[in-house]
Amino acid sequence: MYDVLIIGAGINGGLLAQRLSKYNLRIALLEKDNDVANEATAANSAIIHSGHDPKTGTLKAKLNVRGNALWDDLCKELKVDFIRNGAFVVAVNDEEKLKLNELYHQAQERGVPSRLLNREEAILLEPNLSDLVIEVLDLPSTGIISPWEVTIAAVEDAMNNGLELFLDHKVTNIDRKEGYFDVTTPKGVFQAKVIINSAGLYSDDIYAMVSKQNSYKITPRRGEYYVLDRAIKPVVSRTIYPLPSEKGKGVLVVPTIHDNILIGPNSDIITNKEGKDNTSAALQYVKEQVAKTVKNIPMHTVIRTYVGLRPSHLEYDFVIEEAKDVKNFINLIGIDSPGIASAPAITEYVLDILSNMVPLNEKTEPRISRRPWLILNRMTVEEKQAMFEKDSKFGQMICRCEHVSEGEIVDVIHRNAGAKTVKAVKRRVRAGAGRCQGGFCEPRVIAILARELNIKPTEVLLDSDESTILVGETKENLA
Ligand SMILES: Cc1cc2nc3c(=O)[nH]c(=O)nc-3n(C[C@H](O)[C@H](O)[C@H](O)COP(=O)(O)OP(=O)(O)OC[C@H]3O[C@@H](n4cnc5c(N)ncnc54)[C@H](O)[C@@H]3O)c2cc1C
Repeated sequence: MYDVLIIGAGINGGLLAQRLSKYNLRIALLEKDNDVANEATAANSAIIHSGHDPKTGTLKAKLNVRGNALWDDLCKELKVDFIRNGAFVVAVNDEEKLKLNELYHQAQERGVPSRLLNREEAILLEPNLSDLVIEVLDLPSTGIISPWEVTIAAVEDAMNNGLELFLDHKVTNIDRKEGYFDVTTPKGVFQAKVIINSAGLYSDDIYAMVSKQNSYKITPRRGEYYVLDRAIKPVVSRTIYPLPSEKGKGVLVVPTIHDNILIGPNSDIITNKEGKDNTSAALQYVKEQVAKTVKNIPMHTVIRTYVGLRPSHLEYDFVIEEAKDVKNFINLIGIDSPGIASAPAITEYVLDILSNMVPLNEKTEPRISRRPWLILNRMTVEEKQAMFEKDSKFGQMICRCEHVSEGEIVDVIHRNAGAKTVKAVKRRVRAGAGRCQGGFCEPRVIAILARELNIKPTEVLLDSDESTILVGETKENLA
C-alpha cells in the first residue's frame, strides 16, 4: 500500500515526488510514457516568469510570485542550471503605453522587482528592440531553466531517496475503496491511501475515473515555436514579451539556458490532446508577430520547430484542491502557464493540503544527494583530461554539434530514471540538439543504446512506443 500515489511525471509530479521523498512515506509516481517530462514540460518557453501579469486575486498570481523566489535554492539542490536573465515587456503605441503602466503598478503591488524604461534607456540594454518600441517594463527577476532537466533531476533525486517510479504505466481506472484507492494500469493494480492527479492534459479524464460530478474539461491550447542555432550571436539577452492579452503572453523571443533563441508561441484552441504537429499558418503568424517587438532576427538560422500543448481548461485559474466529492484525492487541473514558474510553490501548496491526509514526518537518515550529469563541455582542460584517463569513452566524440562524448551518454543511460530512447538521451546531454539535429550522431546514439540496454538496434525507439527508427538490416551479417 502506498501512502501517496502521484499520476503524471511532468514538472509538477516530479517536484512533488522529490519533496515527498524527504518524508517517511511510501510514494509511487506513475507515468504513461516511457520517460519523465515528456508532455507540456518538454515543449514550452521555459521561462520563470516574475509573476507580473496573472490576474489579481488568482492562485496563478500568488503561486507565480512565490514560485519565482524558490527557484535559486531548488536548482542548487538539484544541481541544474538557472539563470535570472531578466525580461522586457514592450509597448509599441500610446494605448499600449497606458497598459504597460498599469502592468508596472500591478507588478509593484505584488512586490515584483520592476521599473519603466524609455526607448533610449531600453535600447542601450537590448539594441535589437524593434523600431516601434516606445516604452519598456523591465522585470529583472525573470529567469530561464530547462524544465525537462529539472524534472529528470528531481525524479532522479527522489529515486535516490526511496521514490518508486513506474514508466509505461498508463492509469486506466481508479476504484474508490474503504480508506484507499485501487489504481489500475495495464501492468498491474496499485493501492494507495492518497492520490495526486497531476496528469496535465489528461487530468480531467483522471478525475472522471472517480467522480460523476467532474465538471472540468481540458481544452488544449497549442503553441508553436522556431529554435535558432546557438552558434549565432544572440539577438537579445533578456526575454522579450509583447503586452499580454486574453490569449496569454503573446509571441516572445526567449534566450535558453543552452544559448539557443526560441521564437513563439501562438495560442490556438484545439480539440485533439495529441495534436502536436506544426502548422504553416501558425509559424507564419509567429514570424509576423515577433517583428513588432524585435528586429534583426536571423531566421535563416532556424534549426527546428516544435509544438507544445497547454493543459488549459475553461476557467482561467489553476485548480489545486482536494476534490470536493472524493476524500484524499488531490486535483491539479488547468496547470497551464505559469505552471513551470509556479511549480515549486505548487509543491508547497499541495504539501499543505496533504498534511491533513498523511503524517509528514521528516526522514532521519542522511539524504543521498544527486550526482550532476557529467558535461565535458563545461569542464576545464584538466578535468576533461582526468575523465579521458579514467574512461576512454569520454574521448570518443558522438555529437559533434554539441560536443557530447560516449562516456556522457553511457552515464545517463545507467542512472535512476535513466535514458532509454534517442530523445531521452537528447533531453539529458543534448546529443542531437545542435545544428545537424542528429544527422551525424543519431546512428551512433542508437548503437550505444542497443549495446548498453542489451537490445537489438531495431528495438531502439526515437521517443514514444510507436516510434521505431530502424526496420531491419540491409546487409547480411558476414562474420
Ligand atoms: C506553448 C507553451 C508554453 C509555455 N510556457 C511556459 C513558460 O514559459 N513558463 C511557465 O511557467 N509555464 C509555461 N507553460 C506551461 C507549462 O509548460 C505547464 O504548466 C507545465 O509544464 C505543466 O506541468 P505538469 O507537470 O503539470 O503537466 P505535464 O508536463 O503535462 O505532465 C503531465 C504528465 O501526466 C502524464 N499522464 C497523463 N495521463 C496519464 C495517465 N492516464 N497515466 C499516467 N500518466 C499520465 C503525461 O504523460 C505527462 O507526463 C507553457 C506551456 C506551453 C504548452
